[in-house]
Amino acid sequence: MSTAQSLPYMQKQDPKMAEAVRGEENREATGLELVPSENYISQACHEALGSVFTNKYSEGYPGARYYGGQDFTDTIETIAIDRACKLFDCKYANVQPHSGAPANIGAYFALCEAGDTILGMDLSHGGHLTHGHPVTHITKSFNFVRYHMKNPDTGEIDYEELREVALREKPKLILAGFSAYSRELDYQKFVDIAREVGAYTMADMAHIAGLIAGKAVKNPFDYGFDIITSTTHKTLRGPRGGIILIRESEELAKKIDKSIFPGLQGGPHMHSIAAKAVAFKEALTPAFQDYAQQILKNAKAMEKVFLDKGIRLLGGGTSNHLLLADVYGSIGVTGQEAETVLDEVGITLNKNSIAGETRTMFDPSGIRFGTPAITTRGLKEAESTRVAELMIEAIINRENTAVKDRIRVKVKVLAETFPIPDSFV
Ligand SMILES: *Cc1c(COP(=O)(O)O)cnc(C)c1O
Repeated sequence: MSTAQSLPYMQKQDPKMAEAVRGEENREATGLELVPSENYISQACHEALGSVFTNKYSEGYPGARYYGGQDFTDTIETIAIDRACKLFDCKYANVQPHSGAPANIGAYFALCEAGDTILGMDLSHGGHLTHGHPVTHITKSFNFVRYHMKNPDTGEIDYEELREVALREKPKLILAGFSAYSRELDYQKFVDIAREVGAYTMADMAHIAGLIAGKAVKNPFDYGFDIITSTTHKTLRGPRGGIILIRESEELAKKIDKSIFPGLQGGPHMHSIAAKAVAFKEALTPAFQDYAQQILKNAKAMEKVFLDKGIRLLGGGTSNHLLLADVYGSIGVTGQEAETVLDEVGITLNKNSIAGETRTMFDPSGIRFGTPAITTRGLKEAESTRVAELMIEAIINRENTAVKDRIRVKVKVLAETFPIPDSFV
């Protein structure tokens, strides 16, 4: 979007803020975004986010609110729920979670009592902070136990260990779905083990929700998962926010609703729910299925470049939108060093710990990157290959200013050739 005419009121009233917003607009327009959890929303989605719904209080749910004046809030929340259910093929949805973390916390408290055990993937193997990292408050309420990958070079989960731990620890809930994991899961095995021990199954699809919605990867509901939690701003390409989906149990859906409000949150962010509804409509189009497929093709193109250059990828490669490269183990450059040099050339990604990490959290062995944002800009396999080549060239030549300057120009040209779109339909 053209920035020259934007923000007339902010410019007048608060020029410092306007300058920072324009700075970010320019950064996003001229660089390439490879953080696998980031994306660009449509202008229609921006309009919903910037709408008057931010003014409105509407605690409760459609038809049962605690304030008057709900003529239009009920409409948008009902539409958002209907579209979410259609998109993910389930009976119930709660669209109020402010983000992915509160969606997970709300789900835990709906399904478990304080002190209950939750079985999730080891965090160093790809699990998320909200799956029971010791720094989070929820570890004071629940007892988190772990399963792992059997082999970090294939990414296969150790399902025998999962079953043994489940039989021993009797978890109330078994979690699947991660933030730094590049392979598909055997959802049937999770469901079989959960049924054997009487646990609920929850898939945290924060990263891959858009791939599921676009039918590019499997839907855990097809295997009988009880609930799915997700963000709406990653591959799903909507506003920052969360959702909880319930396959078919009305009883569970009621528990989830009570847990989110009044259990955890106050008034829903109706402007955000309006934007979620807009994004869900976009995701229901055939064009979104093409988008989801292209994300995978672009990731495969990048995978080939890294493997051809002898750089180890966790999981041995990728079956989704992201890659986790062991740059330290492969070429002796730390995750932090790689992140820094790539920032200098206009490519944004994040350093990441890898399974069996030998370094620190602040300067780990790996980098994590993915294709959702560049695919939104229209890059295809040829350009994704080019981006991967430029990344490796920059990392290897991290001390050569002339080479880095040259790469920075190439990145900028690529970014300008593929502007951030205003609309996807
Ligand atoms: C991103 C993510 C979350 C948290 O989402 P926020 O919106 O940042 O709170 C939860 N779970 C997984 C697997 C994620 O990748």
